[in-house]
Amino acid sequence: MSPRNYAVIGGGWAGCACAMELARAGHAVTLFEAARTLGGRARKVEREGLVLDNGQHILLGAYTETLRLLKLAGQDPRALILDLPLQMRYPQGSGGMDFMAPRWPAPLHLAWALLRAQGLQRADKLSLMRFSSAMRWMGWQLYNDCSVIELLERFDQTERLTRLMWRPLCLAALNTPPERASARVFINVLRDSLGASKRNASDMLLPKNDLSSLFPDAAARYVTQHGGVVHMGVKVDTLTPLPDGRWQVDGAGIHDGVVVATSSAQAAALLQGLQDARTSAVLGQLQAFTPEAISTCYLQYAPEVRLDLPFYALVDAPEAGHWGQFVFDRGQLDPRQQGLLAVVISASSQAAEQGHAALAQAIASQLAQVLGQPALAQPLWTQVITEKRATFACTPGLQRPANASGIDGLLLAGDYTASEDSAHDYPATIEAAVRSGVQAAAQLGQQK
Ligand SMILES: Cc1cc2nc3c(=O)[nH]c(=O)nc-3n(C[C@H](O)[C@H](O)[C@H](O)COP(=O)(O)OP(=O)(O)OC[C@H]3O[C@@H](n4cnc5c(N)ncnc54)[C@H](O)[C@@H]3O)c2cc1C
Repeated sequence: MSPRNYAVIGGGWAGCACAMELARAGHAVTLFEAARTLGGRARKVEREGLVLDNGQHILLGAYTETLRLLKLAGQDPRALILDLPLQMRYPQGSGGMDFMAPRWPAPLHLAWALLRAQGLQRADKLSLMRFSSAMRWMGWQLYNDCSVIELLERFDQTERLTRLMWRPLCLAALNTPPERASARVFINVLRDSLGASKRNASDMLLPKNDLSSLFPDAAARYVTQHGGVVHMGVKVDTLTPLPDGRWQVDGAGIHDGVVVATSSAQAAALLQGLQDARTSAVLGQLQAFTPEAISTCYLQYAPEVRLDLPFYALVDAPEAGHWGQFVFDRGQLDPRQQGLLAVVISASSQAAEQGHAALAQAIASQLAQVLGQPALAQPLWTQVITEKRATFACTPGLQRPANASGIDGLLLAGDYTASEDSAHDYPATIEAAVRSGVQAAAQLGQQK
């Protein structure tokens, strides 16, 4: 295939992955990013003189495309990521459970973790075993999608297991409460992590440095080293199709093809400007997504403050003001962040309504209580970052657009697109974004 000249609009993880793949195939790539920082919804932010992230992220060993592209961009995941075995560990005495897989071959690691798990009764363990063998028997496929809670009820999952394991897993993976979350997509994630034949697919990966430097900045370097151009702080407002099938971006550069790698709402705005009936089906799907929020509360303490583990699950009980769902000890990831804790709240719209100051105070009190350290109620400073449009609500039977926009030479990429096979549809995650970018690059290459 002869080299072409392509534009990628959006420097999030999808756009960066797409630009890298196009550059790798020998094409001339121009990447446009509206913000001054690359990474989109997984990017660095500066607060209180520290380089933080817009939200604490967790990756999985099952993120195969993300890990492949990290290495292609010259990044060493072993140096940049803390690799932890699958775990769901609550602080002792907080009414939770302690489940941690050893580094043994799959599925032995899960069997052992379940056998040794504390805080679960025999009935809880049996119900988990029943669920996992039923999923294997069903080939991890669900023909009729339903909510996660319906799925759990169908397989008689106990109330305790649902509360301490399935609900937090569903919230963390789909950012949608189990009552509204798609069982099919949840099963896809479980299959690729807990159900995988390789143990490390279920590993939990915590970035040690900021998210922009982990991948998007390295991807941009790769693109420029391969002859491409990266424009930051440049928002694309108009796309114009030319009679010869090429595209004009903002009345300036001419490109053989364009990948719109923005969020679904931003993609809808760009496609609407085209006023082309061929995109109407896709436009309808883009406009139908509903957003879900995620809040991250950073709490700075004295540098000596340290948790016993890099992260804990927390029993969330909004009625008691316990909004936090997971707490991460940033000092165990980055020595420059000693004493900094990050508490995550998924599907956080109700929590965010409390107001950031009240929410941070409630979280500090929650930490003091459940970790049994009264001093944690008095942080030196706090910062709450709420991303109101963190992800789309991943609901049953959601119609997701393909990468194809309806017009040749114009493709979509982003965490919201459908994969080529619905068994591989993922929730709005870094891996979904990266896979979508890779898929869009491959399809663009095939079109011309
Ligand atoms: C707080 C938070 C926590 C999360 N936690 C996790 C997690 O733990 N694990 C996980 O896997 N995922 C997590 N996610 C989800 C993950 O971050 C997203 O799914 C992923 O980053 C989406 O990437 P994207 O490239 O599809 O879109 P985006 O990141 O939205 O990228 C789109 C980019 O396009 C740019 N853009 C938009 N319009 C234009 C324009 N007209 N011209 C030029 N540029 C434009 C935007 O500025 C943006 O940089 C989390 C998200 C948030 C917000």
